[in-house]
Amino acid sequence: MKFINWKTRIAVIIILIMAAISFMSCKGKSTPTQPWVLAPVIKIQNPSGYPYNIVGQGTILTVTGQAWSIETISAIVDGRTVASAMNSAKIWKWDFILNIDYFGSPGRKNIIIRGLNQGESTDVTLEIINDENELRNQAIQFIHSDWIKAPDGGLARLIKANVYVINENFPEIQNNIMAAVGYMEEWTRLHFIFVHQENVTPIIIMRKVPDPILDTSPTPIPAITQALIRIGYNFINFPDNLQIKRICHEMGHAIGIAGHPHDGSIMDILTPNEEPPIFHPYQQKAVRIVYSMPPGSKI
Ligand SMILES: [Zn+2]
Repeated sequence: MKFINWKTRIAVIIILIMAAISFMSCKGKSTPTQPWVLAPVIKIQNPSGYPYNIVGQGTILTVTGQAWSIETISAIVDGRTVASAMNSAKIWKWDFILNIDYFGSPGRKNIIIRGLNQGESTDVTLEIINDENELRNQAIQFIHSDWIKAPDGGLARLIKANVYVINENFPEIQNNIMAAVGYMEEWTRLHFIFVHQENVTPIIIMRKVPDPILDTSPTPIPAITQALIRIGYNFINFPDNLQIKRICHEMGHAIGIAGHPHDGSIMDILTPNEEPPIFHPYQQKAVRIVYSMPPGSKI
């Protein structure tokens, strides 16, 4: 009797364990790993309103935000799709970026940011002001508040619009330097040319230094003949996005921007590290205004 009881008991225990395992695996199958909500949702982060939504010819408006349950997102201006991005990794809460460089007819208007997910569609509107005069006014205000000036008010700028750049001794971050230079070139329309020291005297030097501080020392006189960007050893431990943003920031100083405005741009030191690099259209315009004049000009 005792022996049978043991056998029965073991059998019962095995059945219970198997039932528990099958119940758990069944539960596991019925719960999707990515709980996509039904309706697609879009929340725009940048531009966060005036004056960041003022645009003009030749500027790039970077629209960033979060999209939930969305596979593709696009920007529609005057009925025409002008930018789009795909959530190929199918991330439930996706941080999207759209770069828009076509704004259609002039004036204040709503453009459409449209998210699509398997036939489901959602639109949000984004107000932009496509106005050359207003863009220029904001650019001039930015120059007055945040540009490097000589004591007589003359505006400092790099001596040439063709900027020779050297990465002196930090090859490990070359890719991120190139990415940052790519952004700066698109935003500013300056030409950054990588050189070897033997070739030509560089204008911007990126130098790896033991000091973990990253800073720029442009000469505070109208013609910036050379800017040294010192990059600490530990910079290599920063995430790529942060490295790119920091290099953009220091290059911003090197080309003549003095200030740290609280505007969510690359010059804003309070922007969260994970946010993508942004340079507002009026800042882009400001660079073009300054570089359309000789060093030391006033405005
Ligand atoms: Zn700074």
